[in-house]
Amino acid sequence: MADGFGLATYDVIIVGMGPAGATAAAALSRGGLTVLGLDKDAHPRYKVCGGGLSARIDHVLEPGFHSVVEQSVNGVQFVYRGQDPLLIESARPIAYMVMRDRFDHYLVQAAIQAGTHIRTGYGVVELTQDLHGVEVVTAQGRFRAQIVIGADGANSLVARRFFPQRSQYRAPALESEVPIAEGVHGPAATAILVDVGAARQGYGWIFPKKECLSVGVGEFRLKSRSLRATFDRFVTDERGVIGGLVPRPAGHPIPVYEESKAQGQGVDSQFVAGRTMLVGDAAHLVDPLFGEGIYYAIRSGQLAAHAILAHRDEHHVAVSAYEAALEREILPDFRVTARMAQVIYAFPRLAFKLLRRYQDVVQDYFEVLQGRTTAQQFLPNAKKRLKASVNDLLLEALHLR
Ligand SMILES: Cc1cc2nc3c(=O)[nH]c(=O)nc-3n(C[C@H](O)[C@H](O)[C@H](O)COP(=O)(O)OP(=O)(O)OC[C@H]3O[C@@H](n4cnc5c(N)ncnc54)[C@H](O)[C@@H]3O)c2cc1C
Repeated sequence: MADGFGLATYDVIIVGMGPAGATAAAALSRGGLTVLGLDKDAHPRYKVCGGGLSARIDHVLEPGFHSVVEQSVNGVQFVYRGQDPLLIESARPIAYMVMRDRFDHYLVQAAIQAGTHIRTGYGVVELTQDLHGVEVVTAQGRFRAQIVIGADGANSLVARRFFPQRSQYRAPALESEVPIAEGVHGPAATAILVDVGAARQGYGWIFPKKECLSVGVGEFRLKSRSLRATFDRFVTDERGVIGGLVPRPAGHPIPVYEESKAQGQGVDSQFVAGRTMLVGDAAHLVDPLFGEGIYYAIRSGQLAAHAILAHRDEHHVAVSAYEAALEREILPDFRVTARMAQVIYAFPRLAFKLLRRYQDVVQDYFEVLQGRTTAQQFLPNAKKRLKASVNDLLLEALHLR
């Protein structure tokens, strides 16, 4: 596998072996292509993440991943600034809790078994593409491929090199892992806790794992002034649940989906450029409502792999097919959840009141998380049911009732 320049050459090089990259790698290797997966870090590695995987993952991933699930969750305990707990449950799981070191390692192992050549400790420092392929530079050597997949996360170098015009919002988030010990008990046995009033234009969460609680805050639609102060207040408000000592939180951006300013003007794509495709966080494929990105990382990795396999010798057709698949399967729901986020995060107290009054609407949204329906199908019905009530609540707030 060496080209005319003596470089090791692959059909596809994937930069980043998180969920997006590892899933794409496994699918491409199973399809018979030569694949090199590069990651700057060795797995298993810690990743700042709530590790909440919506149950719709069951529709796209082989069931083997359940071996690294820490906890199945079938409900959400909503609170507003630590007060008025409201537990809403579903008869079936709505999410699975994973620790990212174990989960990502599992996916990387699956890629290796499928035949992907993986090199960890190989940070990509430069990339160039020409008419014939892409060259990828690491401190340890150079490689060439027909196609590159940028799966290198929220701070993607691939995106910076090949999508220089892109300027999308990356939401700040903080998280700490609180060891479960005496006095630390979690929201409820099989529920996550969501505090709707904990953050400005975002929320606070407690996700239960086997040995710890993942405790965090994210602000999804606003430049944060002091997220650390927000985190400290959240932890204090939830002291009754979290109990003991909270280790210092770590920060990481969440690249929530935003429609490109250039969209619809026939200008640059947000996802593909020449022989390069972006997947997962590198492509900003994170749900604007909850900041959920693991499912979309996995699914976009699969969609990229399917497009490449379906158009093996025509990279320009493959990149268009990938973009079309995102447009068909993922982006319409993001446009809906972006609108929901706009309203909910602008009026969190009103949203919390509505949650209490319309628990069946929340149940309907659980079906979206379970992959039994889509956000697009959910919204019109929810709007109809909520409309009258919003008027009532506004009148109540104005003391006219
Ligand atoms: C605080 C916080 C909480 C979150 N909670 C949740 C949650 O509960 N549920 C959920 O669904 N999502 C959550 N997310 C989002 C989720 O973490 C991401 O959407 C998800 O990790 C995206 O996967 P990915 O494979 O695209 O990128 P990543 O998981 O970030 O993987 C990228 C990989 O690329 C490697 N890499 C980076 N640069 C280079 C380079 N130059 N060369 C080689 N390798 C490189 C990295 O080492 C890494 O392994 C959260 C995020 C944050 C910050």
